[in-house]
Amino acid sequence: MDKKIWLSSPHMGVKEKEFVNEAFETNWIAPLGPNVNGFESDIQNYLDSDIYVAALSSGTAAIHLGLKLLGVESGDEVLCQSMTFSATANPILYLNAIPVFIDSEKETWNMCPILLEEAIKNRILNGKKPKAIIAVHLYGMPYKADEINAVARKYAIPVLEDAAEALGSIYKGVKCGTLANISILSFNGNKIITTSGGGALVSHRKFDKEKAIFLSTQSRDNAPHYQHSEVGYNYRMSNVVAGIGRGQMLVLDERVTARRNNYERYFEELSSIELFTFLDEPNEFYSNRWLSCLLTSSYNIREKIRLNLEKENIETRPLWKPMHLQPVFSKYLSFVNGVSENLFNRGLCLPSGSNLTEDELSKVIYYIKNCVENA
Ligand SMILES: *Cc1c(COP(=O)(O)O)cnc(C)c1O
Repeated sequence: MDKKIWLSSPHMGVKEKEFVNEAFETNWIAPLGPNVNGFESDIQNYLDSDIYVAALSSGTAAIHLGLKLLGVESGDEVLCQSMTFSATANPILYLNAIPVFIDSEKETWNMCPILLEEAIKNRILNGKKPKAIIAVHLYGMPYKADEINAVARKYAIPVLEDAAEALGSIYKGVKCGTLANISILSFNGNKIITTSGGGALVSHRKFDKEKAIFLSTQSRDNAPHYQHSEVGYNYRMSNVVAGIGRGQMLVLDERVTARRNNYERYFEELSSIELFTFLDEPNEFYSNRWLSCLLTSSYNIREKIRLNLEKENIETRPLWKPMHLQPVFSKYLSFVNGVSENLFNRGLCLPSGSNLTEDELSKVIYYIKNCVENA
């Protein structure tokens, strides 16, 4: 059997080991150290010099702390994009808050601003004004930030931007990860760059960074002994892991180019087939194309392709199953228009790693074509 072709596997550059070795040689193994600060300023320089970055142990941890910083407390309602990975929504429950799920629009597959406003009006009428909005740039495609922000501003509800999949994406000239009150990034193993596991909280306010670091290092008060007035978390990124991140930041632009090239290749080879559609970039939207997604004409065709590729040792995955259809979340209120369920039934994420070889891409395309020619 040929070597497995993965959906999205880690892709190291050349400098990561040097930064990690430096951590060993200087014995900066224990949590903090120069790589953490270095990684934070690398991200800051990349995104926007006017922002503040706190490196954390995961994107999920960043969402958890981000919601806390936005003042979400037990019993509060949080409006959350339904079409996403569960890590977007789980931290709402960590805080004993209540998720309310919002369906997607068709142009970006992200939170529908019209449904968002409908939901806000409904919740206000019921005496439950939402405390925060979580919007997600799915697969790297920016959400409609102007429209979402306009609704959020109209009702004075803060937005948490889940940019876990969108480092390197750009919306109307502004980098994803800087489009909201608080944003989060992920450096999990399958993301566009990785530290093996890690995340970051991004804010336009220095206070948020300082508070996130305080909370993520067990909320220690300023005293010679260990003194705590608040519940703390162990969410800070380690200095060893941050070394990997520093190396990865050096190749981020190359990684974006490689993933965009994968998408272009799939588009060129497959878009003329009537059964398929692709997610185009709207004007002034720039996606890092973290994952290339193929939308087929039916569940059956999607499954046929998925199973045939699996036989060839090629990993693919249906699009994210919406949260309002997940057993763990289905009891919560949702505002639904059918878009995300339809995408889930017909869509497939194709191998998208920045380390895919030309031969591997050709093989994936060959077997997809093969499936539909014999349909
Ligand atoms: C990966 C991901 C997260 C979580 O990040 P981790 O670093 O894995 O905790 C959150 N939201 C989305 C949309 C993701 O894809």
